Amino acid sequence: MTAYERLREACGVIRDLEHTAALLDWDQQTFMPVNAEPDRVAQLTTLAGVIHEKQTDPGFARLLEQAEAECRDCAPDSVQACLIRRLRRDIEKQSKVPVDLVKQLAEAAAQAHSAWAGAREKAQFSLFAPHLERLLDLRRQYAVLFAPYESIYDPLLDNFEEGFTAKQLDILFADLRRNLVPLLRRIIDSQPPAECPKAVYGEKEQLAFINEVLHAVGYDFTRGRQDQSAHPFTNEFGLNDVRITTRIFPEMPLSALLSSIHECGHALYAMGVSRELDRTPLADGASFGFHESQSRLWENLVGRSRAFWEYCFPVFRRYFPEQLKNASAEQIWRAVNHVEATLIRTESDEVTYNLHIMLRYEMEKELLNGTLAVKDAPAAWNAKSMELLGVEPANDAEGILQDIHWSMGEFGYFPTYAIGNLLAAQTWCAAEKQVPDLEAEIAKGNFRPLLDFLRRKVHVLGARFTPAETLRRSLDAEEIKPDCFIRLLEKKYSRICGF
Ligand code: ZN
Repeated sequence: MTAYERLREACGVIRDLEHTAALLDWDQQTFMPVNAEPDRVAQLTTLAGVIHEKQTDPGFARLLEQAEAECRDCAPDSVQACLIRRLRRDIEKQSKVPVDLVKQLAEAAAQAHSAWAGAREKAQFSLFAPHLERLLDLRRQYAVLFAPYESIYDPLLDNFEEGFTAKQLDILFADLRRNLVPLLRRIIDSQPPAECPKAVYGEKEQLAFINEVLHAVGYDFTRGRQDQSAHPFTNEFGLNDVRITTRIFPEMPLSALLSSIHECGHALYAMGVSRELDRTPLADGASFGFHESQSRLWENLVGRSRAFWEYCFPVFRRYFPEQLKNASAEQIWRAVNHVEATLIRTESDEVTYNLHIMLRYEMEKELLNGTLAVKDAPAAWNAKSMELLGVEPANDAEGILQDIHWSMGEFGYFPTYAIGNLLAAQTWCAAEKQVPDLEAEIAKGNFRPLLDFLRRKVHVLGARFTPAETLRRSLDAEEIKPDCFIRLLEKKYSRICGF
């Protein structure tokens, strides 16, 4: 056996253990009896320990070195070279961070999380403030280990979006903001009212309806399943087992549908990764932003398109003939595209979503580089909310305390949501050029041509290349740009609002 073969086997073992932990986590969020929690925590802790041991085993590092020596002449885009590059990067990053700091971060995050939950319940930021201070301090210590950099934000962002920098984000967001803020005002001023008929939509019927749509879209129920959970998510346990969950609201049937289509987008990506990459860390998305681009593409560019509702409305009405007897495809399409500047990110629409992200990005940068003090953060949040969205939170719970990310010590994560939105639009624009009759096929309920395009261009590559290289290879693009995103929104809303 060559060193590379042994290295792949070692990766396979780690991957199997990670998937086993993921399966236990999926069970915990779906079917686990409530009192089983202590047992589950013990199992997950044990597995995390075993995985960490395997990853940091000196034998594993030696194997990597030997495989590198073997691979001196291998093609730079071969699976072998790509896997070695990825493992070398992971090991180098890991080796820079002292175990003590890792422990401190984990401990601080665990304490911060419960403090955050309590603070949010009481809408009182001061209860969370010392924890945020501590996490920021630890994250600064973490970032410094990766010096030199242009911005202290860069090493943190790199954990989610390899190679992407604050400087690039600044340019991207400034461009986006210039276009988006006036567009939002125009839409809000001229948008006619539209809503889905108010009624009760039975849970069983909603699930059956959604499953039929997921089938049509291309979700493979022989390699996955859909269940219910408090927060919808996608979890993969291998290329042949990618599961999604949804949350049903009897009075809001479109919420579960679109959230399921979103998760389905993540799942289609995970199911479409090349089998050559199976049981390696390359059997993943190219980055957080890339993963989100696939879910947003299906949710927003397919699920909120006029063509999609041409297909979907008759299906919807078949399940809810009474509730929808006076409705139309045009009406439901308008309802799913209704824009409103609201306070809560997770409830925001396609137009305002990125503004919520810019707010968080600016806050994170200022907090990390020390130009904003933690005690002044709630007021800064509220001012930015007013400036970007035109709405001001009445209290900290609907302002600065609304998201979980900072309580986990995660800074640099939020921008990947906006990157996902922009990449989704860029991918759609490429599909429009390369897939014949794209919209006409979707209107007929034929999603195959689009899925084939995504499989061929994006999914199959997995995490084989860096995000920038993936962008080049999949979309023939040099950078992420907001142009397509803005153009598609303008096109849609000029039709809805008549401007
Ligand atoms: Zn997502």
